[in-house]
Amino acid sequence: MSAVSGHCFCHSIRFEVEGPERFACFCYCESCQRAAGAPVVAWATYAKSSFRINQGEMQWNQSSPGVTRGHCAKCGASISYENTKRPGEIDLTLNSLDDPGGPTLQAHIWTCDKPEWMIISDELPVYERNIG
Ligand SMILES: [Zn+2]
Ligand SMILES: [Zn+2]
Repeated sequence: MSAVSGHCFCHSIRFEVEGPERFACFCYCESCQRAAGAPVVAWATYAKSSFRINQGEMQWNQSSPGVTRGHCAKCGASISYENTKRPGEIDLTLNSLDDPGGPTLQAHIWTCDKPEWMIISDELPVYERNIG
């Protein structure tokens, strides 16, 4: 167990979570694309009970039924994802971590929504929708 820290684009949010991550993946679902304005979002999953916001104000947005996305209230950076189907877990945008290179990415998910020009060129498993 080791503390993993992160911050938003404007540095007003600082957070901490207990590592290592339980899972990490690239998500191409349309909600992630819209929330980030990007073709793909890399996420890492942690125990929600270990997530602490040490500084700054989050803005919580219910993006679909049962889904809450957390953004920085100041700069709008996408930071977290929680789904009532996975209680006890929180996903954090990998690139909000102080060391985005830390977690090991394990899969590509929701590639049914992936723009065609976004080419996957690694050997990780590809799931058209969610895993399982
Ligand atoms: Zn910010
Ligand atoms: Zn997604």
